[in-house]
Amino acid sequence: MATPNLTIVVPCYNEEEVLPETVFRLSAVLDALIADNLIAGTSTMLLVDDGSKDATWALIESFHAANSFVTGLKLAKNAGHQSALLAGLMKAKAYSDCVVSIDADLQDDTDAIREFVVKFHEGFDIVYGVRQDRSADTFFKRATAQGFYKLMTALGVKIHYNHADFRLMSKRTLDNLEKFQEVNLFLRGMVPLLGFPSTQVYYDRKERFAGESKYPLRKMLAFAFDGITSFSVTPIRFVTLMGFLLFILSVFAGIYAVVGKMVGANVTGWTSLIVSVWFIGGVQLLALGLIGEYIGKIYKEVKQRPLFVIEKDLTEQASNAAQTS
Ligand code: UDP
Ligand code: MG
Repeated sequence: MATPNLTIVVPCYNEEEVLPETVFRLSAVLDALIADNLIAGTSTMLLVDDGSKDATWALIESFHAANSFVTGLKLAKNAGHQSALLAGLMKAKAYSDCVVSIDADLQDDTDAIREFVVKFHEGFDIVYGVRQDRSADTFFKRATAQGFYKLMTALGVKIHYNHADFRLMSKRTLDNLEKFQEVNLFLRGMVPLLGFPSTQVYYDRKERFAGESKYPLRKMLAFAFDGITSFSVTPIRFVTLMGFLLFILSVFAGIYAVVGKMVGANVTGWTSLIVSVWFIGGVQLLALGLIGEYIGKIYKEVKQRPLFVIEKDLTEQASNAAQTS
């Protein structure tokens, strides 16, 4: 195989504080890989501005002006991490043999990219970056993340522990990922479904280089919930099972009450009555809410709205260079 053309895709939302350092480090990685003939000289990075409100786009434009191998994509409005990443991946796959995705904040180890590329040369289509040491994350983040991975596994979802969206994917992987057409994006759950040869590379997770997390608790919980309900119907089955058990229970309770009445036992029932009314009411509401969640998902999928709108595109030159070389 000729040396592959690599694109590093970086979703960026209000990342002006880290971006210069990120571009600097990723450039060094690209340069070194090119020098060692592991990737083609036309390899680039693609910074996707996810509707930032700070100077992120202005920075991307100036980096692009200075170095044509720094390219950019500006989304018309904030589409969210997963959609921004998908926008970049789908753009990059048109002219790349493999694509690495990495967050802008340098929490993931840029040096691991070299190992990803080596694995790609060994014939792997997907290389998952796996966080070995998460001590840089807060205890809360670690604990909730572990709970989430355990829950997903228990629900039968194939997910890689401690892998976020730091990975390499080959062009054919991305071509197949494109066919998914899902609106409720949860990429780290979708990629393993593709089934191409894959492997893992371990690295230590670092602290954010600068700036604040763009994933506040509210967004993180919504993302986790999305992941669960997009990949598993077990929660809804659990509700059905609970309904069934309650039904059986109520049959026995009914028999007990009727028999009790017939043998003349005193049915002092107000407390138990009111408790069960509330209990069953609560369970029903919960069940309805959960069913509503799934219906809401279907509603979103049925509409098939585009996940992102591209406003500006600075990839033309890179794409031409890669295709003519
Ligand atoms: N991000 C994005 N759009 C958003 C939120 C985040 O493109 O709406 C990007 C962000 O710039 C970063 C990556 O997604 O490159 C991961 O976000 P962050 O590091 O804040 O999340 P955390 O590591 O705290 O989970
Ligand atoms: Mg981060």
